[in-house]
Amino acid sequence: MSSSFTLGWEEWVSLPSLGLPAIKAKVDTGARTSALHASVIEPFGPINKPQVRFLIQPNPDDLSMEFTCSAPVVDRRQVTSSNGEAELRYVIQTELTCGDRTWPVEMTLTNRENMQYRMLFGRTSIADDMVVDPNVSFAQTPLSFDLYKGIPRKKPVKRPLRIALLTREPNNYSSSRLIEAGEARGHVVEAIDTTRCYMKIDATASEVHYDGKVLPRYDAVIPRIGPAITSYGLAVLRQFANSGAYCLNPPIAIAASRDKLLAHQLLSRERINMPVTAFANSPKDTKDLIALVGGAPAVVKLLQSSQGKGVVLAETKKAAESLIDAFRGLEADFLVQQFVEEAAGKDTRCFVVGNKVVAAIQRSAADGDFRSNLHRGGTAAPVRLTKQERDVARRAAQTIGLSVAGVDILRTSEGPKVLEVNSSPGLEGIETATGKDVASLIIQNLEAKVRPLARDLKH
Ligand code: ADP
Ligand code: MG
Repeated sequence: MSSSFTLGWEEWVSLPSLGLPAIKAKVDTGARTSALHASVIEPFGPINKPQVRFLIQPNPDDLSMEFTCSAPVVDRRQVTSSNGEAELRYVIQTELTCGDRTWPVEMTLTNRENMQYRMLFGRTSIADDMVVDPNVSFAQTPLSFDLYKGIPRKKPVKRPLRIALLTREPNNYSSSRLIEAGEARGHVVEAIDTTRCYMKIDATASEVHYDGKVLPRYDAVIPRIGPAITSYGLAVLRQFANSGAYCLNPPIAIAASRDKLLAHQLLSRERINMPVTAFANSPKDTKDLIALVGGAPAVVKLLQSSQGKGVVLAETKKAAESLIDAFRGLEADFLVQQFVEEAAGKDTRCFVVGNKVVAAIQRSAADGDFRSNLHRGGTAAPVRLTKQERDVARRAAQTIGLSVAGVDILRTSEGPKVLEVNSSPGLEGIETATGKDVASLIIQNLEAKVRPLARDLKH
């Protein structure tokens, strides 16, 4: 093998494993690694066998020529390009053919516009027995873009999404169902423990780290943030949002849903009915506070209550006053609410996905309780909603800004009254009682929202 193999300063190459028959490359011995200029670079596949998909326009003079390629990712590497910009790039391994030789090369993927050469041929891709002659253009067999004729221009790929399920309970019913439904529709769903995520924030990076590694970019995040970790969970979610992932429910909407007072104020602004609600800061106003909601019996609720845990019924004025005193003593934030007695321990959970109520159940409290939460031993049965109830539920979810929500309403003689809008509604009760595949509807809603190609193809 002593016959030398010469590379000119530009060469035609082909990348058979990527399905690209002709690329004009610039040989650049000043660069270490070869680079391929591609756009819409998207990771996919499982974390232990990552792949990347990208678009390439092989002919810089004919941008209508466009192909989708995919390749296994061998590394991610910080690369500083000739213009001094540092960038974290995917590294792929692929076969390269030039003249009569074919050999494996590593290439980084980068999206730089206006590059006349779609490929930079770096030092590490040039074998020891090859010679570079900077005075020669095309030392090897020339190819032509005509070779692309007949290759389907663009395969309309039904792209799998890479979805992160933010949860501390990957095995509970709701998580399992979302993972199952996502995978059944061809996506990759990774359960990520919210509290194990940490982050790096600066002007250029929005990274989420986990176990010593930076997490890849996800197409979408499904937040299932428990009320015990709302604040930290929302910080993590914002970080995912900043990194370009679509959040099924946006952090700001989850924050609004977690604060009962804020939620009621937002609903009131949209003229959505609710039990009369009162809030005060000073103990001097306790008596008036109770009077505002029509006196006893009244409901006193912690602003951050969930699963009925912070919701108490005060049967008499005296009881209400001492309850309020006690909450104040504990420095707990609470609101006082008119007790809707006619609802008699029943409420209606409307499950909203997108702009539709996709399932509904009526929940009945266990004996002796007025709270119908399933976590409090309530029971669920499917229920038919009136048009008015559907409208109220849809509008309530929309007002808070949630695309997936459990809207709880009380049926009263004055029409439906919204009790709360839940941003991480459980799936078990609703799916079991109605037999509906709500998890799959959530995934379908996500698919419609993400549309990564449309978003990334700006030019
Ligand atoms: P949580 O967020 O803890 O579930 P909710 O406001 O949803 O708090 O209240 C829990 C349950 O208590 C409701 O599902 C409902 O059955 C009952 N409840 C709450 N507020 C009222 C009210 N004002 N009148 C009658 N029942 C109520
Ligand atoms: Mg509730």
